[in-house]
Amino acid sequence: MTAKILRWTLGVLALAAGAASAAGGDAVNVYSARKEALIKPLLDRFSEQTGVEVNLITGAADALLKRLESEGRNTPADLFITVDAGRLHRAKRAGVLQPVRSSALEAAVPASYRDPQGYWFGLSLRARPIMYGKDRVDPAELTTYEALADERWRRRICVRSSDNIYNQSLVAAMLIANGPDHTQAWARGLVENFARAPKGGDRDQIKAVAAGQCDIAIANSYYLGQMLTDDDEVQREAARKVAILWPNQAGRGAHVNVSGAGVTAAAAHREQAVALLEFLASEEAQQWYADVNIEYPVRQGIGPSAIVAEWGRFKADAVNLDQLGEYNAEAVKVMDRAGWK
Ligand code: FE
Repeated sequence: MTAKILRWTLGVLALAAGAASAAGGDAVNVYSARKEALIKPLLDRFSEQTGVEVNLITGAADALLKRLESEGRNTPADLFITVDAGRLHRAKRAGVLQPVRSSALEAAVPASYRDPQGYWFGLSLRARPIMYGKDRVDPAELTTYEALADERWRRRICVRSSDNIYNQSLVAAMLIANGPDHTQAWARGLVENFARAPKGGDRDQIKAVAAGQCDIAIANSYYLGQMLTDDDEVQREAARKVAILWPNQAGRGAHVNVSGAGVTAAAAHREQAVALLEFLASEEAQQWYADVNIEYPVRQGIGPSAIVAEWGRFKADAVNLDQLGEYNAEAVKVMDRAGWK
């Protein structure tokens, strides 16, 4: 087992050191699709408070899930942290997570932001609103995701490709709200309104709006927040040209999603993994986590950071996010048929 772990780490000395103590029990091994800077300080704080050592491996979300699946029962991972409920659902489906009952977690994380059976728990909330060029779009023209298929937006919209889980989850939410026929027609109309073939990430869509290549983008709000606080003045300047419109406020609310985590099916340190999850949902951790990522806390009663607060309060779609995973395959088909590249 140790040899295997060493091969996996490839220079992650922390894990090599931790593997020994992991066998002894007071350690927890984490696979995280979130960048080290976004999670490590919290893990250190947990170690300080509990004496439980945390060994962290970070990687790309889909690669980490594949790794968990191929390692199966031999995985050293106790906790899997990733982004998007669609992916968390995929992990649950793949059999790499196990259910957890915890009154602390159930109290901290609203029911719609966790798996009904406890296979995963949301730890931060992100919204996927409409963004628009302040100098070209009157926000009064914008109402719903549905209305983005209107002819008035012909060749004015930028959004990333359909192989991205964020868009798949958005379309899954549309399917749940509006049904297959309406959603298919909507997707066709939306694709007709693309200003260009999808390329790049969410940030690139925001930049394209700033540069006048399109008037509207659909993007996760924290990307705008990251640009507004970037060290690079060019990014800040671009971000200041773009504003957020919270869609569907008279109806179901704006599309939201989570980053979250679940205890692995093979966890050798289950108890420590649950303790770490509970810590990540604690008031202290929630405040830090949401601020650093420029997201929203999942836990009620904690305010967002100053920059996020400026975007105002909004009504969020209350659909249970696990449903987004249920509808993922159908969402992919809808996008495919619509010609969403
Ligand atoms: Fe992201």
